[in-house]
Amino acid sequence: MDSTLVADITALLGPHYVVSAPEALTTYDADACVVDTHAPDLVVLPRSHEEVEAIVRLARKAGVPVVARGAGTGLAGGATPIQGGLVIATTRMDRILEVDVRNSRVRVQPGVLNFELSQYLKSYGYQFAPDPSSQKACTIGGNIANNAGGPHCLKYGFTASHVLGVRLVLPNGESMWTGDGTPYGPGYDLTGIVCGSEGMLGVVTEAWLRMTRLPEAVRVVLALFPDVETSCATVSQTIASGFVPSSLEIMDALTLKAVNGMYRLGLPEDAGAALLIEVDGVEEGLDTLMQDIEGIARRNHATEVRPARTAAEQTQVWAARKNAFGAMGRLAPTTFLVDTVVPRSKLPAAIREVQRVSGEYHLPIANVFHAGDGNLHPLVLFDRRVAGESARALEASSDVITWCVEQGGTLSGEHGIGLEKQKFMTLVYSREDLAAMAGLRHAFDPAERFNPGKVFPQGSGCGELAEWRRKGIAWRDLLAGRVCLDAPPDHDTVGGALWV
Ligand SMILES: Cc1cc2nc3c(=O)[nH]c(=O)nc-3n(C[C@H](O)[C@H](O)[C@H](O)COP(=O)(O)OP(=O)(O)OC[C@H]3O[C@@H](n4cnc5c(N)ncnc54)[C@H](O)[C@@H]3O)c2cc1C
Repeated sequence: MDSTLVADITALLGPHYVVSAPEALTTYDADACVVDTHAPDLVVLPRSHEEVEAIVRLARKAGVPVVARGAGTGLAGGATPIQGGLVIATTRMDRILEVDVRNSRVRVQPGVLNFELSQYLKSYGYQFAPDPSSQKACTIGGNIANNAGGPHCLKYGFTASHVLGVRLVLPNGESMWTGDGTPYGPGYDLTGIVCGSEGMLGVVTEAWLRMTRLPEAVRVVLALFPDVETSCATVSQTIASGFVPSSLEIMDALTLKAVNGMYRLGLPEDAGAALLIEVDGVEEGLDTLMQDIEGIARRNHATEVRPARTAAEQTQVWAARKNAFGAMGRLAPTTFLVDTVVPRSKLPAAIREVQRVSGEYHLPIANVFHAGDGNLHPLVLFDRRVAGESARALEASSDVITWCVEQGGTLSGEHGIGLEKQKFMTLVYSREDLAAMAGLRHAFDPAERFNPGKVFPQGSGCGELAEWRRKGIAWRDLLAGRVCLDAPPDHDTVGGALWV
C-alpha cells in the first residue's frame, strides 16, 4: 500500500482507526461466505461523511480499489476485497441522526445496526420493517447495498421500498444525495439504483429511511406438517386466496432437529416441517384471518396448529427461526447456504429437487426459508476437513440454482451476487442486459475501482456459460473448470468481463 496514502489517512483519522497489521487485516478478508478470501491492504474506520469523502479522494489519487464494508455478514462475498486495496468499514458510523415523526422518516448513518434501529424507533411507535435474520449484527448500509429481505418483507417489501434517499460519496470523491427524503421525486430513481448495487456505485454515508407504524396486534402460529411439500402447498394456497400474512416461514425436519432442543420448542420428533404463520394489523378481525389460514393448513394435512399465545412465546418461536442458521452447527461442522428463488407454486417441486440433489451428492441439505416470497435457502451440510466434501457441496448448490432458474426463478432472493453468484449471471441476463448494467456502473465509476471483481462474470467463462446448453456440456463441469470451451473469435470487453 502506498506509504503516502497510509500516512495521509492516519493523519486524518488518527492511528487507532487505521488497521494495517497483517494479522488484523485477515479479520476483513471475507464476509460470512467464505468461498474466496483476500485480505485488504488497509482498513479504515471513519466516523463521518466528511472523513469518508476525504478518504475516497486520497484513494482515488493513489489509484487503489475501495470496498465499503458494514458488519461483514453478507453471504455472497460482497464485502470480500478480492483485489486488495482499501476497506472502508462503517462500524463507527453508527448514529441515528434525526427522527422526523411528522413525516414518518428517520435519518441514519450506515453503520447503525438493523435491530438497534427498530428497537430505538419502538418508543415512537414505529419500526424499520425489513428484518433480515441477521438483523442483530448487520448494518443499514449493508442492507441498502444488498437490498436485504427478511421474514416480514412478504408484507412490507424489501429494503428498497423503505429507503427515501441516500447520501453517497462517489468514486470521484464528490458527494450527492439521491433524494431529498420524501417519497416522490421526478427524474431518474437514483435511490433505487443504489439499493442492491453492492457497493459498486459509491459509499453510502447517510440515509433517509421510511418508518413503519408498529402494528396494533400480532398473531403467531406454528403449524406442523408431515412433510415440507404440504407446508409449501399451504403457503401457495394462502397467498392465492388473497391473504397477505406478515410472514410465512418454513423449517424442514432437519432444521427442526437443530432448533427444537436449543429453543425448547417441545416439538414432536417426527414433525416433517413447521410453517411459522404471522399476521398483523388492527386487533379486530385478526383472529378470524388467522383461523382462515389455519383452515388452509388443516386442509393440507397439518398435524398440529400451535398458537404462540404470549409475547414471550412469540419471541421464542421467532428466535428459533431467526437463529436457525447458527443452530446448524449442531448438525455439521460446515454449511453452505444457497439463496435462490422459484415461483411460489413451484416450491413443492423445488423441495423434491433439493432432496434429489442431496441424495445424488450424499450430503444432507436442510431447508429454512422465506416461503411466502418463494425464496429458498437450502443449507448444504458438510465437513470441509473431509477431502472432496467442499467441492461436492458447491456442485450440489450449483445444481439447485440452475434448476430453480430453469423453473422461471432467479439467482438470489436477497443475498446479492457478490463473488458467489457472478458466474451464474448469464443464466438470467443477456449480453444486452449486462452491458446496460455495466454502462450504468461506468457512469458512476469509469475506473472500476469500487468493489472491483464483483457481480459481473469474470473472464472468458461468462461467454462459455452462455453456450453450455447449446454444446450439451454439463453445467457442473463448466463451473468446476473441468471443461473449457474455445475462446470466441468475436468478443469485446464490457464491465471488465469478456463476452461472446
Ligand atoms: C445468519 C445470517 C442470516 C442472514 N439472514 C438474512 C436475511 O434474512 N435476509 C437477507 O437479506 N440477508 C440475510 N443475511 C445476509 C446479510 O446479513 C445481509 O446481506 C446484510 O444486508 C449484510 O449487511 P452487512 O452490514 O453485514 O454488510 P456487508 O456484508 O459488510 O456488506 C454487504 C455488501 O454491502 C456493501 N456495503 C456495506 N456497507 C456499505 C455502504 N455504507 N455503502 C455502500 N456499500 C456498502 C459491501 O461492499 C457489500 O457489497 C444473513 C446473514 C447471516 C450470516
